[in-house]
Amino acid sequence: MVGNCLFCDLFQGKIPSTILYRDDDCFIIKDINPVAPIHLLVIPIKHLTYLEGFSDEDFAVLSSIFKAARDFAISEGISDSGYRLTINQKEDSGQQVPHLHLHLIGGHNLSGIG
Ligand code: 5GP
Ligand code: ZN
Repeated sequence: MVGNCLFCDLFQGKIPSTILYRDDDCFIIKDINPVAPIHLLVIPIKHLTYLEGFSDEDFAVLSSIFKAARDFAISEGISDSGYRLTINQKEDSGQQVPHLHLHLIGGHNLSGIG
């Protein structure tokens, strides 16, 4: 946890939000500006930033967030139709929030988008 991090503040309840899911490693919220009918953010509880600084323990958290995303894709009913998982890293990706997170995007055809 660090100061002035939007996602840490959301998790700690300093900024109101609806947490759809949480476990020991991550939590899930709806993206405030969805680009598709389903656009969720799977966010590690630990304030992780960039992959190049990850420890082995941090990489284990990635396993958890992908598993949570997989489970939500199933429960949201988009596992068969398909979905996109995206992790943005730094400026050229357009990353806005420097607390690593996985976008789960689906619910319509994304071909040719992004
Ligand atoms: P990034 O561009 O860093 O990969 O993704 C950050 C995402 O966080 C964006 O899609 C943006 O819409 C979303 N976002 C920014 N501020 C908030 C917020 O206050 N609440 C929620 N739920 N999502 C946010
Ligand atoms: Zn953070």
